[in-house]
Amino acid sequence: MEAVRKDEALAVGHLIAKQRGKPVTTRRSGYSDLKATETPALAPVGKNKGAKVRTLLRAKLGEDIYGSWFNAMEFETFDNGIVKVSVPVKFLRNWIKSHYEKVLLECCQAEFKGATKVDVVMRQVGSTTKRPISEKTDVRVMNPNRMDSLPGAQTGNGTVALEAGIFQRPPRTEVGGFEGSPLDPRYTFANFVVGLSNQFAHAAANKVAASVTGENPNFNPLFIHAAVGHGKTHLLHAIAWEAKRYNPSAKVLYLTAEGFRYRFVEAMRGTEPLAFRNKFRQVDILLIDDLEFMHGDKTEQEFEHIINTLLDGGRQVVVASARPPALIDRLNERMRSRLQRGLVTELGPLDEELRLKILQTRLAEKRDVDSSFNLSREVLELLAAGLTENGRELEGAVTRLFANWQYMRVPITLDIAETVVRDLLQGIEPRRIKIEDILRMVSRHYGVSKSDLLSQRRHRSIVHPRQIGMYLAKQMTTRSLPEIGRRFGNRDHTTVLHAVRKITKELDDNMRLKEEIEELKKTLGH
Ligand code: ADP
Ligand code: MG
Repeated sequence: MEAVRKDEALAVGHLIAKQRGKPVTTRRSGYSDLKATETPALAPVGKNKGAKVRTLLRAKLGEDIYGSWFNAMEFETFDNGIVKVSVPVKFLRNWIKSHYEKVLLECCQAEFKGATKVDVVMRQVGSTTKRPISEKTDVRVMNPNRMDSLPGAQTGNGTVALEAGIFQRPPRTEVGGFEGSPLDPRYTFANFVVGLSNQFAHAAANKVAASVTGENPNFNPLFIHAAVGHGKTHLLHAIAWEAKRYNPSAKVLYLTAEGFRYRFVEAMRGTEPLAFRNKFRQVDILLIDDLEFMHGDKTEQEFEHIINTLLDGGRQVVVASARPPALIDRLNERMRSRLQRGLVTELGPLDEELRLKILQTRLAEKRDVDSSFNLSREVLELLAAGLTENGRELEGAVTRLFANWQYMRVPITLDIAETVVRDLLQGIEPRRIKIEDILRMVSRHYGVSKSDLLSQRRHRSIVHPRQIGMYLAKQMTTRSLPEIGRRFGNRDHTTVLHAVRKITKELDDNMRLKEEIEELKKTLGH
C-alpha cells in the first residue's frame, strides 16, 4: 500500500510536467512547487490553526527543509501550554525533536499564546481521535472505507500526506503481540482475477484460508512459486484477510523472509532468545513470502525448526517463492523435501485476457474513490497489450493515469496511455533520485556538512555517514562506482566498493542501522 500511494504522489509531478512540455522535475521541492501552483484546492490553505506556524517555519527554514520535515506534521491539541503535534513515522519524530525543537516552539508561540513546550508524537494509523486544532490538511487518494471494512484492517482515516511522500503505517497481522510484515488491504480474493494460469493456486489458497473454520485442506504446506509480479504476494495477503474474515480470532501471521530474519536476529540480541520460537507456537496459519531471501545459517536453522514444529502440530503453513523448492539453493535437503511434501503450485504468466481483467479491477477500485475517473476500452486494451511482463506494471499504469486525472481533469487519451506504457517499459521512475539529494539528506541526518562529506577527513563521525551515502548512491541511483567516487570528493571506485561492502555487512547484524537506512530511503522517496 505504501509503495502505491507513494507512486501515486510521485507520478503526479511527472505527468504534469510531461504534459506541459517541461523537463520532468526530479527534486522534491520541484514537486511541492507544482503542488502549490497547480492544485491550490488541495493545498492546506485557509484559516486553519497551525497555518501561521507553518508559514513561520517555512520562512525561517526555507522551503526545502520545511518540505522534508514538516509537511507531514499535524497539529493535534493545545493544552496547558503544551502544543501537541504528530508525525507519521518515528524517524521524523526523532529528527524534528533533535534538530528543530527550539525553532518549532518559537514558531508555535507566535500562534499559541503561552506555549511552553512542543510535544512531538507519532500519529497512530488506528487513531480515530479528531484533530481539534487543525482542519484536515491531507489529501484523500484511496478509498478509506476499503481498509475500514476489511477484517483485521486498522481503521485509519485513509489520508496521506502527499507532499512529503511519507505515509501512515500499513496494517499488519499480529499474534500475541508479535507483529507481521505489512499487508496491503487491496490484496484480497475479491480483487484477485482468476484465469487459466492461476486458478489452481487460487483454489488452493482459498482452501487454506477456510482452514480456520475447521476444514482441513489436506495439503500442508502450500508452496506457491512464480516469477515476479504474477500475484504471489497478492494471494498470501488474500489468505490473511480471508482467514480473519472467517474467524477474527484466528492466529494468522504473515512475514516476508526478510521480516522473519530481522525479527529473529533482534530476538537473539534480546534477553529471551527462546521466546521467539514460542511466539510461533500459537500460530494457526503462517504465511512466509519471498522464501528465496531467507539467508543466514542460524536464521535458516530456526526457520526449519519452526516450520517443522508447526507442520507436526497440524498448523497450516504457506510459502511463496520465486523458485520451486528444488531450485532454492540455500535450503538443505531435509527442508526441501519437507516443503515438497504438501502442494507445490505455480502461478503462470498473466495472459492478455487476464491482464485486461486486472486492469478493469484496478480501474473499478479507483472509481470507488473518484467515480468521474474512467478509462476507455481502447486505453485498457492498449495497456493490456503493451504491459506484458507482470502485474506490477498494470497496477503502476492505472495508478499513474488516475493521478493524472485527479490533477489535470483531462480525459485519458491513447496518447497519454502510450506515454505511460513507454515510461513503464523503459523503467522510467516518476522521480529519479540524484546523488545530490543523497548528499543533502545524509548531511542533514548525521549533522555533518556536505563539505566534510566530500573532504579527505577521516574521523569516524564523518567516515561512516560518507560510507552510508555511497551505499545509498549505489542502491538508489544508476551511477557507476567510479562516478559515485567522483561525486563523493573525487574518490577511487575501490573506496566506494569498500564502503558498499562494509555497510552491506553491517546491515546484516545492525537492526538499528537497517531501520535508519530504510527510513532514509523512504524520505528520499523510495
Ligand atoms: P509477486 O508477489 O508474485 O511478485 P504481486 O502479488 O506483488 O506479485 O503482484 C503484482 C501486482 O499484480 C499486484 O498489484 C497484484 O495485485 C497484481 N496481480 C497479479 N496477479 C493478479 C491477479 N490474478 N488479479 C489481480 N491482480 C493481480
Ligand atoms: Mg511478492
